[in-house]
Amino acid sequence: MTNPPVSEDTASIAALAEVNQTIASAAKAVSRQAENVVLVAVSKTFSADQIRPVLGAGHRHFGENRVQEAAAKWPDLRADFPDTVLHLIGPLQTNKIAEALALFDVIHTVDRPKLARKLAAEMVRMGKSPDLFVQVNTGLEEQKAGVAPQETVNFVHQCKDEWGLTISGLMCIPPVNQDPAPHFALLAKLAKEAGVANLSMGMSADYASALRLGATHVRVGSAIFGARD
Ligand SMILES: *Cc1c(COP(=O)(O)O)cnc(C)c1O
Repeated sequence: MTNPPVSEDTASIAALAEVNQTIASAAKAVSRQAENVVLVAVSKTFSADQIRPVLGAGHRHFGENRVQEAAAKWPDLRADFPDTVLHLIGPLQTNKIAEALALFDVIHTVDRPKLARKLAAEMVRMGKSPDLFVQVNTGLEEQKAGVAPQETVNFVHQCKDEWGLTISGLMCIPPVNQDPAPHFALLAKLAKEAGVANLSMGMSADYASALRLGATHVRVGSAIFGARD
């Protein structure tokens, strides 16, 4: 007996098209090119079988928040879709740096000096140079990772001067139950002050708003893959 074919998840393919459409109109509204916006499809908690149709539809940027989970899913998917660009959007423990560098092309969560220092050393050792974002705790939330807004410019400079790390952008996760727009605006202002070009901001509920405020990378999960358990 052969296994039944994996059913095509047409829901995620249609949802992806809809998100791309929303990005196109939001970009147009502020006279930006939608091609310059990277849609990171956040596939955390979803299985390889659920991710495959989105890859099949031609999408290539994906985000995961756990190194371990990504290590279990992505090597096989990548073998079939070698031009995939994998983004780490969750906290990075220093003991997982080598594993993360082996898997991820973009790291959105550089959030403390110790991580920056060890990341720099390991990048040299492994000959890797992922795109790096500094995570900013725009809401100064106790439980949330990220450098404080007032320390951001210094930290970006410190990354360069002390550890030779080129930071390509800033990332934030605004507090839930708050209007995210002021947080997006703050992140854009800090990026300008720090002299970095990219802004990773906006999730399923607010990516159009983030885009209008300058997002270059939006991280969209449930609007593509459906609700997570
Ligand atoms: C889960 C997650 C997302 C995606 O959230 P959705 O609301 O499902 O779009 C974006 N960014 C980060 C950092 C996440 O952990």
